[in-house]
Parts: sequence; C-alpha cells; structure tokens
Amino acid sequence: MRVYSTLGDAKMKGLDPPTLAQALANGLTLSHSTMPRPILATVHTDALRHNLVRMRAAAGDARIWAIVKANAYGHGIERAFEGLRSADGFAVLDLGEAQRLRSLDWRGPILLIEGIFEARDLELCSRLGLWHVVHCQEQINMLAAHKTQLPHRVFLKMNSGMNRLGFTPERFRAAWTRLNALPQVDDISLMTHFSDADGPIGVDAQLQAFEAVTHDLPGERSLSNSAAMLRHAGALAERSDWVRPGIGVYGSAADFPQHSAADWGLRPTMTLSARLIGVQQLAAGDSVGYGSIFRAEHAMRIGMVACGYADGYPRHCDTGTPVLVSGVRTQLLGRVSMDMITVDLTPVPDARIGSDVTLWGNAVNGAVLSIDEVAHAAGTVSYELMCAVSARVPFAVE
Ligand SMILES: *Cc1c(COP(=O)(O)O)cnc(C)c1O
Repeated sequence: MRVYSTLGDAKMKGLDPPTLAQALANGLTLSHSTMPRPILATVHTDALRHNLVRMRAAAGDARIWAIVKANAYGHGIERAFEGLRSADGFAVLDLGEAQRLRSLDWRGPILLIEGIFEARDLELCSRLGLWHVVHCQEQINMLAAHKTQLPHRVFLKMNSGMNRLGFTPERFRAAWTRLNALPQVDDISLMTHFSDADGPIGVDAQLQAFEAVTHDLPGERSLSNSAAMLRHAGALAERSDWVRPGIGVYGSAADFPQHSAADWGLRPTMTLSARLIGVQQLAAGDSVGYGSIFRAEHAMRIGMVACGYADGYPRHCDTGTPVLVSGVRTQLLGRVSMDMITVDLTPVPDARIGSDVTLWGNAVNGAVLSIDEVAHAAGTVSYELMCAVSARVPFAVE
C-alpha cells in the first residue's frame, strides 16, 4: 500500500481522479487528508513553457536564468521544473534549492543570487558546481581563505542605486581587482539589479552608474529582471548576456495595473481553486461574517468557499475582490476568515454546494482571473500571493 502525503502528491504521481478513487477504494491511504477538503493549487506546465518562450523573445541574444527562489515563487521547484527546463540556468536563494535542482538531474548552471552566507557554503558550491554572487567584502574574504580545487565562477554585484546588496560604484573596481587576483576565482561576471524597472523612474540612472564603472571590464553582464526585460528591452539588449526573469515566467505583470499579464502575452501558471461548501439566503439587512462588515441591501444568495487566510488567501481582501464561481465573475463579501470566504451568488443563480470556485488562475470554462487583480485588491503584489499558498493546500501539476 502506498501512502501519499497529500492528494496533490497522489495526483503528481500521475493518479487521475477516477484512478485515485479506485485506489482509495482498494485501501490507498492519504496520510493527512483522507477526505480531502475541496481546495487545490494547480501548476500549469504548458503556461510555464509558454511564458519562458515569451520572456526569451524579450531577451534578445541573452541567456535566461529562470528565477526559482522562494521554491519557484511558491509553485514548488520540482513541480515547476518540467515547464522551465528549457531555461539556460536557474537562479536560487539557498543551497537547499540548488541541491534539489541537482537531484532533478539539472546539470546546467545554477546561480546563488545572494551568494554564500558562510564560509563552509563554498564547499557545497564546489561540489554542486554552483556559480555565486559576490556582493560584499566578507564574501571575498571567505573566498580568499577557501582551499579550493576547482576555481569558482562568480557574479560581482554592483549597488547601482537600490542600496540593498552590492558594492557601490566607487568600490566596485577595487572589489573586481581583488577578486581577479584570487586563485580561487576563475571567471567574474558583472551584475546589478534595478529598483524601478516597473515604474516611472525606470532604469536609466542605474544603467549609467553601472556602465560608467564597468565599460572596460571583461566578463558577462546580467542586469534585467522581468520588468526591465519587458519595458526596457531597447536600452538593455546590447548590454545583457544573462537576464533574470522571475514573475514574468510565472505569468504575472510586474507593472500591473499599468499593464496586465494578458497585455504582455503571459498566462497564469498557478490556479488556486476550491468549491462551495455552503449556501445561504440573506434578507435585506442581514450581515455576513466577522465584524458584520458586509450588510445586504436586498435579498441575495451567498456561498461559502473552502478557502481562507490559513490557505494563503490574503486577509486584506475585502468586499469587491473578484472571484469566479463556475467560471462566472462575482465578488467576495465581507471579511476573509481562517478557513472560508463568502461570495455573492447573484450572477450565478445555478451555483450550489460543490460548484467550482476560482480564487485566481484558470476556471474550468476557460475564464481567467488574474492573480494580479486579487493581489491589487489586497494591497499587495502577485509575488506575495504565490509565495504564501500554505502547506495545507494540496498541489497538482498538469
Ligand atoms: C527576484 C530577483 C529577480 C527576478 O525578479 P522579477 O521581478 O520576479 O522578474 C531578478 N534578479 C534578482 C537579483 C532577484 O532577486
């Protein structure tokens, strides 16, 4: 007898629902969701592939780091891998993520985008063949003290104005010279990160700061995130050997609401879906949920959805946040609870317990609810929603 930790796991292993039902009848156990609650996150392999092609079209001749930090923006590295394997490399945050990619038999480049955190990380970098960012003097010190067999390939990061990580333009060349003299280092690429590629400030000032200091240094360049690739392709094309798209690959517009994902030709890579588990009839004046913050102006039908903030649905969403019921657009009512939200069933008179609900992504009838719209309603960005789908939500890959 096989034991799967979640329904999502079982699905990932290729059990379709009828087979799964059969397997359950024959004694397969789901270790913590024997009667699964009707909520599911689905990763869309074809959409990942499509978006990567789309981002490649914006990359000129540059190679692509698919950014898979934060567990592939919440999709799961293992679940997203198939859709992303045509990337030229993967950029990760920590050694655990790098190790998982090697376990998937990825032999190509992997970049640690914040570099090492302590000296002993360098051993694993050598063993796993990782390239790593160098953004501070301490990391150079660790490299200088490292007894290495295979010299390291590093990406030296300039702080060109974002003021998070990196050497300031004044200190950049000294850092390069010191790195270049180390026997532990065999190749130095140059990198920076834009703070405003998605907005009105743009990339020009940072680009100038970068160019002024690096124009005569050898090495490959890596500058652009998704927003820079899509919005500033012209200014950056000549200057990029590697681009670093994250959110675009995951089907979301970095500059929403100025542009939508559809405007950029991107498709949702994650659907969060659930079902109605309750229906109520309200009379005029009745209120809904904690704090009674929604009050019906007239008689209406409402539905309870098996999804709440403990699943990662943002609690800051309020009345008016779009939701699809049976693929029909309607709205959230009142406060988001831990395990439930309430939706207006007025536009969906046929809805009943068991009806499909799309919190974001694709509905069964082909309708799409952009995660950007939901994030916007919650006063946040799609990145946060993707990353926040909680551990109790089963995942499927299709
Ligand atoms: C996260 C990250 C990216 C990707 O940014 P998106 O906005 O998701 O495209 C690129 N570069 C660095 C250094 C990052 O940390």
